[in-house]
Amino acid sequence: MKHPICIVGGGVIGLLIARELHALGENVMILDRRESGKESSWAGGGILSPLYPWRYPDSVTELARWSQTAYPGMVKELQRDTGIDAEWVRSGLLILGISDTETAVNWARKFAISAKNLESGAIDEIQSGLGMNALDGFWMPDIAQVRNPRLLAALKRDLQKKSIEIVENEAVTGFGIENGELRHIKTDNRTITTDRCIIAAGAWSGDLFAQTGLSIPVKPIRGQMLLYKAKPGLLQRIILKNNRYLIPRRDGRILVGSTLEDVGFDSSTTEAAFQELHETAVEMLPALADVEIEVQWAGLRPGSPAGVPYIGQSPEVKGLYLCSGHFRNGFVLGPASARLVVDLVLGNTPIVDSEPYKIDRVD
Ligand SMILES: Cc1cc2nc3c(=O)[nH]c(=O)nc-3n(C[C@H](O)[C@H](O)[C@H](O)COP(=O)(O)OP(=O)(O)OC[C@H]3O[C@@H](n4cnc5c(N)ncnc54)[C@H](O)[C@@H]3O)c2cc1C
Repeated sequence: MKHPICIVGGGVIGLLIARELHALGENVMILDRRESGKESSWAGGGILSPLYPWRYPDSVTELARWSQTAYPGMVKELQRDTGIDAEWVRSGLLILGISDTETAVNWARKFAISAKNLESGAIDEIQSGLGMNALDGFWMPDIAQVRNPRLLAALKRDLQKKSIEIVENEAVTGFGIENGELRHIKTDNRTITTDRCIIAAGAWSGDLFAQTGLSIPVKPIRGQMLLYKAKPGLLQRIILKNNRYLIPRRDGRILVGSTLEDVGFDSSTTEAAFQELHETAVEMLPALADVEIEVQWAGLRPGSPAGVPYIGQSPEVKGLYLCSGHFRNGFVLGPASARLVVDLVLGNTPIVDSEPYKIDRVD
């Protein structure tokens, strides 16, 4: 048997890569320094669109569109094979109070994305009860969401049922390189022989990759969220205003997020964020003033300068690949990123031009 392709990190990106590789008959192993699927991927909101998508480079839109098409089928397959419903729901995304509407409209036209500019009086037909009816809106009816912890549980169970090895509580600490080629990876308790490894270690990818002598600007950016225990029916749409959003889950719960904080590897929550998110939530949907807040949490996004992930082979080390830096969009870009890196590892024709994602680019 060939040596396994090793994937460092069992977040949404690592799990999706493993699924793709296994589907193409490859022997795969995931290693995670703790329990897989418990870092940024667990903490996220699961909106399947970048926020203000027209403000990103086209390379982000390309991956988002590919993934958005792939999601319904993938979630259905996972439910059939694992019994876990990841709750793909087409909630639509209502964006309030933007000033660059013309750019948004042109972007939607260019990529044939369904979107409509709404005058303030029309907002109530899309979502009633909002506290900001005086604002204009940009309505994207096809935007969906997934319940990310459930998607992670489904992906993990699917891989386990396929007998893919997911090694937890074992950190990858270094790489054995000879003549510019990967020979093995080192963990905190052994050496694993492999000639292909994909780093999908989220916010930790930058530090890990730096061990090979190449620095990439992926660093942690903390995001905090609150969860309201609301009853079904209070909110149907994903609402976005001033970089803060409300997400309605199928059981009625509502998430409000999220902060953007450059505080290193500190994933604690703060009272200041609690107050600010609660005030924003009540301003957006006044009925939330009377709803119990169930929990507050924080996660460390894998931040990258323009939000464009790094996907490709190291220019210095043959066999060492990176798929990281998805920043605020790991779920919406995940399926396409996983497919792209797998195409590159296996030498298949890539689903999109890989040039904009290459590791040694300068943003
Ligand atoms: C508050 C918040 C809201 C968000 N909302 C959305 C959203 O609505 N939509 C969206 O698309 N995205 C959203 N995101 C972003 C999204 O969650 C991330 O982009 C995505 O989860 C990144 O996935 P990942 O697999 O790269 O990283 P992670 O999920 O962080 O996984 C990395 C894994 O690597 C492991 N690891 C690290 N170092 C090592 C090592 N040395 N050896 C072995 N394992 C290692 C970690 O333990 C971890 O399990 C949000 C994020 C946050 C924090």
